[in-house]
Amino acid sequence: MTPDLRDVGPVPVGDWDRAVGLISSADEIALACHVSPDGDALGSMLALGMALRAAGKRVTASFGERRFRVPRLLRFLPGQEILAEPDAYPLAPELMITFDVPTVDRLGVLAGNAVKARELIVVDHHRSNTGFGTLNLVDSGAAATAVLAEELINRLGLPVDKAIATCLYAGLVTDTGSFRHSSTTPGVHLMAARLTATGLNPEEIARELWDRSPFGYLKVLGTVLDRVTLEPEVGEGLVWTFVTRADREAHGLPYDEVEGIIDVIRRTEEADVAVILKEDDDGAWQVSTRSKGAVDVARVCAALGGGGHTKAAGFTSHLPVEQTMASLRALL
Ligand code: 5GP
Ligand code: MN
Repeated sequence: MTPDLRDVGPVPVGDWDRAVGLISSADEIALACHVSPDGDALGSMLALGMALRAAGKRVTASFGERRFRVPRLLRFLPGQEILAEPDAYPLAPELMITFDVPTVDRLGVLAGNAVKARELIVVDHHRSNTGFGTLNLVDSGAAATAVLAEELINRLGLPVDKAIATCLYAGLVTDTGSFRHSSTTPGVHLMAARLTATGLNPEEIARELWDRSPFGYLKVLGTVLDRVTLEPEVGEGLVWTFVTRADREAHGLPYDEVEGIIDVIRRTEEADVAVILKEDDDGAWQVSTRSKGAVDVARVCAALGGGGHTKAAGFTSHLPVEQTMASLRALL
């Protein structure tokens, strides 16, 4: 069954006011973002976390992975001293806030904590968001969760310093594909201008995010590109490939280093849809899909148990590559 996907937002002023009230009156606040965090998820969480800590709140931030590890390319983000392993996370937080999380299961092992939270504020921009919070600050028109995080910090009356701006900027450039995707509005550029004015270094952030791959990345990329397949007859054209755990192990490459390969695959002119299946360390396949607009991949991935945005979505598969691809082709 395909869950209903609807465009939501902008966030009603009354909901912003409620969020400000809940946060202002709390002494202790628990923050969480989705598993395998990207720049938007972790950046948004750390940004609000730093702002709240500077305002005197006790803050715990985490994401629900047993093997808790910040992806190497996000370790430059400031504010990581607020991070705690899921084991040290409050079991039933008085106030919990999630970032970039469309469904409870994307909280991983912190899903149970969220269910037990007295108040749960969901800050997100996914069309597939299920509204699982007691208060949902969800706007599918926002280019990134970082856009909503910035607004929340502003509405709380808290200052955005260079460290906070760096985290928000990382979210903004990650989710807009460096100001290239259709989500890049005048408002996005105005936000980038506000953040840059704090003195952050866009060149340094871009280098940290995209130009620090280990040599093994190029070798794995070679393998993955060697087996790429173009199927012009599927939908408006499909290009796809996969990367196994063995491919990575041969070059000592951790899983998060292959997250960016989809951006190479999606360049293909002949295909509207690009797909990469990535085998994670548990042997599950994390599938990333991208569309140029003819196909709504959020809908396709939702039908396969995942979700995301119209032009960027994903799901998890436990089936062999060919079987997963057969399901995908049928939907395309
Ligand atoms: P990526 O391909 O960059 O991992 O993810 C693209 C988009 O799809 C992101 O917005 C991400 O949240 C969403 N997405 C990726 N994998 C999954 C998944 O397994 N489940 C859900 N619900 N969304 C996913
Ligand atoms: Mn996002």
